[in-house]
Amino acid sequence: MLLGYFSTFQGESQMLLLKELTEHSQKVLSTQVVKSYHKVMSTLKNLGVIKRKLQTSEGVKFQIDLEKACKLAEERNVENKAHSDTVQLEDLKAVYWSDELYGEHPCCICGYQKLTSWQAETFKGDKLGICDDCRLEWEKRRNNID
Ligand SMILES: [Zn+2]
Repeated sequence: MLLGYFSTFQGESQMLLLKELTEHSQKVLSTQVVKSYHKVMSTLKNLGVIKRKLQTSEGVKFQIDLEKACKLAEERNVENKAHSDTVQLEDLKAVYWSDELYGEHPCCICGYQKLTSWQAETFKGDKLGICDDCRLEWEKRRNNID
């Protein structure tokens, strides 16, 4: 949410008042979620986008690393897309095993992040991670159809 806000600015960095950021967050997410500036501050720290913190007469100001924020926003977009793409078992054309892929991948069917070396290819040509359970399910179905 904050990342989206940062991407509306241009340049390498931007000075923003903590008060402004908190108000913006409260507007977008509601005051129940963002009870105080503490939440905003810890989010910024977790993201690691604070370049500098300044105490000004208007209040605490942060210099936000916009380049980093934009990169993070992009990465999250990619992740979100992978999750929101609802792929069904019927959409899969093939499933491959690859030792190189071994690692944690979000499964395109169940959405869980699991250790897997399997990759699924859809009829559209997208290559997506698939967990072992869903892969077995896919093979079962395929064999039934055959
Ligand atoms: Zn799965």
